[in-house]
Amino acid sequence: MSAIEEKDVLIVEDSPAVGILLREFLNKLGLKKIHHCQNGKTGIESFKELVESNKVPLVFLDYNLPDMTGYSIMTQMLTMRPDVKIIIETAREKTEDSIKDVIAQGAYQYIPKPIRLEKIKEIIETLKIEETQSVDEGTSELVEKLLSNSTQISLLRIQQQTGKEEQEVMQIVKKLAADKKILQIDDIKEVACPRCSSVRVAQTFHCPKCRGTNFKQDKIIEHYKCGNVTSSATYTDDKCPKCHELIKVFGVDYRVQENMYSCNGCDEIFAEILLEYLCLRCNDKFKLDHAKLLTSKGYSWAR
Ligand SMILES: [Zn+2]
Ligand SMILES: [Zn+2]
Ligand SMILES: [Zn+2]
Repeated sequence: MSAIEEKDVLIVEDSPAVGILLREFLNKLGLKKIHHCQNGKTGIESFKELVESNKVPLVFLDYNLPDMTGYSIMTQMLTMRPDVKIIIETAREKTEDSIKDVIAQGAYQYIPKPIRLEKIKEIIETLKIEETQSVDEGTSELVEKLLSNSTQISLLRIQQQTGKEEQEVMQIVKKLAADKKILQIDDIKEVACPRCSSVRVAQTFHCPKCRGTNFKQDKIIEHYKCGNVTSSATYTDDKCPKCHELIKVFGVDYRVQENMYSCNGCDEIFAEILLEYLCLRCNDKFKLDHAKLLTSKGYSWAR
């Protein structure tokens, strides 16, 4: 039995049906230690417990949970364990750019919903190969998997993920290109750690006031009369939590702002998230203006 089958899996997913389906698929693939949480808060708690008992679970994370945003949860998990592998489930068909975004945020992979067994199998197999990457014969297989699983990837990233010399990686890449399995595309510029030059960095997201990472997407209501600006959830039975009057006519009495964020830590309401970076290799935290920007050749899988 390989180490992957021994791993704990943490599913953070609010739909019980999807949770059961995922559990079934993972069981079929030999993973038995499955934990299922239905919201961000309990997901973070379970993650913490596992980490404290020296287990780093493989995480399947629903990106659209009601109590915390997906990137808030990812930030908290990556800050505790930069080596955690988080697989994002996305409901909608994602564009290439938004997939690049979640990967840049530190996600290991993403799976589109509805979830298919085949895709889960692919991810578990890649993980298995990565675990055995010290075995020399695995290198070209690993490079091929990395390429086939990404929409695009840089030479630098392939090198760093495999831990192999540029020359060896280049040879494999050249052969794959000659076999028309991959295409060379434009050079890729990536954010890298200012301390160790690793491109395996994650974006982290913070409340601009307390720098905390526990916040949720929120709908905000402003009551004109008393000036109260709080989450729509605080207007119980349409009553303003400050002046206790009923809010009546939309646009006259009050206005609604969608796509805002509210901090679960300090109650701050904000439109712009504070963005920072975390190096997944050396744990250095840095802001974009301190980051290194590294450019290398880009490749994509020929489909
Ligand atoms: Zn805050
Ligand atoms: Zn009011
Ligand atoms: Zn670093």
